[in-house]
Amino acid sequence: FDQRFIRNFSIIAHIDHGKSTLADQLLLKSGAITQREFREQILDDLDVERERGITVKARAVAIHYTLDGQEYEINLIDTPGHVDFHYEVSRSLAACEGALLVVDAFQGVQAQTVANAYAAIGCDLEIIPVLNKIDLPVTRIPEVMEEIESVVGLDTSNALKVSAKAGIGIEDVFKAIVERIPAPKGKPDDPLRALVFDSKYDHYRGVVTYIRVKEGTISKGQKIYFMKAGTAHEILEIGQFRPHMLPCEELGPGQVGYIVTGIKVLGNVHVGDTVCDYLRRPAAPLPGYEIPQQMVFCGMYPIDASDFEHLREELARMSLNDASFSFAADTSEALGFGFRCGFLGMLHMEIIQQRLEKEANVDLIQTAPNVTYQILKTNGEEVFIDNPQEVPDAGSITEFREPIAKVAFILPSDKIGAVMQMCADRRGVFVTTEFLGPQRAQLVWELPLAEIVFDMYDKLKSITQGYGTMNYEIIGYRAADLVKMDILVKGERVDALSTIVHRTSAERRGRALCKRLKEEISRHQFEIPIQAALGARIIARETISAVRKDVTAKCYGGDISRKRKLLEKQKEGKKRMKQFGSVEIPQKAFLSVLDTG
Ligand code: GDP
Ligand code: MG
Repeated sequence: FDQRFIRNFSIIAHIDHGKSTLADQLLLKSGAITQREFREQILDDLDVERERGITVKARAVAIHYTLDGQEYEINLIDTPGHVDFHYEVSRSLAACEGALLVVDAFQGVQAQTVANAYAAIGCDLEIIPVLNKIDLPVTRIPEVMEEIESVVGLDTSNALKVSAKAGIGIEDVFKAIVERIPAPKGKPDDPLRALVFDSKYDHYRGVVTYIRVKEGTISKGQKIYFMKAGTAHEILEIGQFRPHMLPCEELGPGQVGYIVTGIKVLGNVHVGDTVCDYLRRPAAPLPGYEIPQQMVFCGMYPIDASDFEHLREELARMSLNDASFSFAADTSEALGFGFRCGFLGMLHMEIIQQRLEKEANVDLIQTAPNVTYQILKTNGEEVFIDNPQEVPDAGSITEFREPIAKVAFILPSDKIGAVMQMCADRRGVFVTTEFLGPQRAQLVWELPLAEIVFDMYDKLKSITQGYGTMNYEIIGYRAADLVKMDILVKGERVDALSTIVHRTSAERRGRALCKRLKEEISRHQFEIPIQAALGARIIARETISAVRKDVTAKCYGGDISRKRKLLEKQKEGKKRMKQFGSVEIPQKAFLSVLDTG
């Protein structure tokens, strides 16, 4: 395809402002899909995405569109909006020359609008502001344009006004893409350099590698070389996403597509790697990506120990499709063999867990998540801790440090006081307030990451009646008065229940946790004391009293079906239990910590 007629862009926006719906319209209007094939958010094809109505993975599609008699190839990348998936966005941007910045015409500029727009500006992309949802009965078009100008610093005099849902203004979007976004540079005869921006495992084809050609030409049958991995392969299939995988003969500069090389070993393809010709190697690889640092960790253990190897394979497959997720084998006295997994945030963790259970069909016990800590030991050594079990004795710690994030909130001005209070309660340090207009403000605070990730988003939503949004980035580690809190069940420490807490809240959280565990663990035929301890010091205690009763005893008489149901339910419940000594601890108990913040 003549590269003068190629355009590559990403659609970026705050969550729910209509990126995926706009992508649907572009597919529909260009004829890439027919009205009959059409379904909402067609690119969100993962089960979790359809269930939750959010985009988790970036998606690339090549569409053909004719303007004034000239056919153009337009490569569109739909991206997720949530802060946890920012890495997906930044990778997509590196494969493009332009971006559509979609902003809800009523909600206006939100926290991820700002973050994503800055990321696009950082990549030097041509940004087209698009006000979406103009079909809504109430919009704030002039104010929203004002916000885009003042906060993001973009000229909005030629902003587009569309309704992705009603299909209004879509022609203007195509026109703007063709006219304003530059064609890709790069010569077809230069040595090949193609950027690997994603990959996935396909049951029929093996590893499928997503590429954007920067320079040169890549074709079927070619012998290629992954510059960073240092491996050579032959291209068995090459093609484009239209939106389904459609084989072709070659891809030139600017084109986006996939290659299949028969790679069976997972972990041999790295996002950010450069593909080149095996013989004609360029001087240097493309810059690639900075691999993001996982900040939230939890344990994942198969309920059935024989699933361990299967789980390992599935985790490898998952990490191939998502380079921002990490895992390493781990053991727990309480839970046996499993894995310590790292995520970019809580939503990321939930999504991976859900995908594992669905796509991989393994039942898991997940432990309560924690952030990464840094400890300066008395011997001068600095260590990173992503598992509370690894915290050394209090005596050998000089300084216990936690990650700090800079958080930007965008919210209605009358909610400033309440949000300030929330931040102060969570050990925050105030940075700035800035007014975006008469009714909206941006607040910036520095907060411990541990105070943000677990529930701050929900808290913010409830304080602001849904109108507040937030975005954060890690700025470093800071010393704090942190301690490891252990839980003892019947006098024995259950390692998987240990947590790291701030000393001032240890007692309150210890009491709350013991109480929650008392509710979660069912009564046994003996008494079970539950205690929270800092080192050898017990700070809270609850007791589960003994019971001696058959579960079916409360179904008096002949109601056999109900009795069977109850037994089945108990069996179902048992699946998610772990035996610890003589005590059975249900899955939910391991997450109780989350309820005690
Ligand atoms: P994304 O998170 O940015 O990908 O947003 P989605 O495309 O998933 O859309 C979020 C919600 O907004 C969905 O319920 C859409 O139906 C709705 N939506 C998207 N575009 C429009 C529009 O132009 N008008 C109206 N009224 N609703 C829209
Ligand atoms: Mg979406």
